[in-house]
Amino acid sequence: MRQKKYLLGESEIPTHFFNMQAVMPNKPLPILNPATREPLKAEDLYPIFCEECANQEFNTTDEWIPIPEELRQMYASYRCTPLVRAYDLEETLGTPAHIYFKNESVSPAGSHKLNSALAQAYYAKKQGITNVTTETGAGQWGGALSYAASKFGLECAVYMVKVSYEQKPYRKSIMQTFGAAITPSPSMSTRAGKDIITANPADNGSLGCAISEAIELAVTTPGCRYTLGSVLNHVCLHQSIIGLEAEKQMEMAGEYPDIVIACFGGGSNFSGIAYPFMRHNMKEGKKTRFIAAEPASCPKLTRGKFEYDFADEAGLTPLLPMYTLGHKFKPSSIHAGGLRYHGAGVILSQLMKDGFMEAVDIEQTESFKAGILFARTEGIIPAPESCHAIAATIAEALKCKETGEKKTILFNLSGHAFVDMAAYDQYISGQMQDYSVTDEELQKFISAADALNR
Ligand SMILES: *Cc1c(COP(=O)(O)O)cnc(C)c1O
Repeated sequence: MRQKKYLLGESEIPTHFFNMQAVMPNKPLPILNPATREPLKAEDLYPIFCEECANQEFNTTDEWIPIPEELRQMYASYRCTPLVRAYDLEETLGTPAHIYFKNESVSPAGSHKLNSALAQAYYAKKQGITNVTTETGAGQWGGALSYAASKFGLECAVYMVKVSYEQKPYRKSIMQTFGAAITPSPSMSTRAGKDIITANPADNGSLGCAISEAIELAVTTPGCRYTLGSVLNHVCLHQSIIGLEAEKQMEMAGEYPDIVIACFGGGSNFSGIAYPFMRHNMKEGKKTRFIAAEPASCPKLTRGKFEYDFADEAGLTPLLPMYTLGHKFKPSSIHAGGLRYHGAGVILSQLMKDGFMEAVDIEQTESFKAGILFARTEGIIPAPESCHAIAATIAEALKCKETGEKKTILFNLSGHAFVDMAAYDQYISGQMQDYSVTDEELQKFISAADALNR
């Protein structure tokens, strides 16, 4: 029988995180305090994030950061995740390319997000923190953090954008099942929420407001810290375990990837699968291509601008040097495929600028079409986000069919779609449309960020 799955035992769970910041030739520009324009230090973030995460955020010297044994034990409940050769997809496409995927959908949260949620909960617990808080839009990060908090005995409070709270009841149920307290945002429990409700009682909420509420709770509650599930350097660091495992598994398969692909929201699952392989491009001159697949309706890497911008819509965070569409940018409401964030992580942005990676944008109907083909051939219904990576993979595999090249393609399956089926319904019933932003529209939002760079 041909071998389809490459499995590693628990003892093979990585012992160290891989820190790209220590290896990349050009370090990222500093993160700035927006008021003084001075570079921030780790200590500046201690009131908001737990100390270890703040330290990791600024660590540009240690290539390898040990993973504490207790955290590895927690990872063992679902890791190592399988690497799978997608023979049936290959055959259906008629491509000579070899397609592999790393299956991060097997985590209890259904996505790669748990890799960082467990790490952040562990470091918080270790520091004596008792409560963690965050915001959630679609609810994937909230679900992962709720589970991680319960495993480490932390209280977890999630501010969920009100419109999602009402439209995605199962995400709320998942978080409540794992023991978290969910508050629809805006709420009357914070100054930020009260101000918005007073001005407009019918406000449906936004990620920006939910962030403000969560940060306010963290800085005003003793023993409480804020957490984020994407974009930041320490989150990408934790995700490196994906690629470190995949590296061993590709070796078991006797292959090395010519192309590595992941979908791209803030960049955490892309970093996870890509960085461990990318270090060989940097150190040993390997020629692997790294492709970030982003939605055409939120194209920060393909059409955004590299400059300083706020990480949140309200403009409360430090200024980050990154590819951005402007912090006020909102993808069209017809966009159902996730990956709605306006900016890219700081390390990723520098790597993009320096030519270590490339990006493609994918229309949402193309991504769901790819997701359905994958579901019917490989038996896993991919998260709408992951469908973008699959569409980019199929495009590369079809190029190989034309040229006859036998390339090895590896993509990250960041999660499954079991609570996102409404988006599939929309596609299957023919109600989904594509949406590309016009240059004028983009320019309007990018100019607002330009103003921060003068
Ligand atoms: C959150 C999420 C993403 C996008 O976030 P990144 O930080 O870019 O990885 C992609 N896929 C799934 C399943 C997610 O939950």
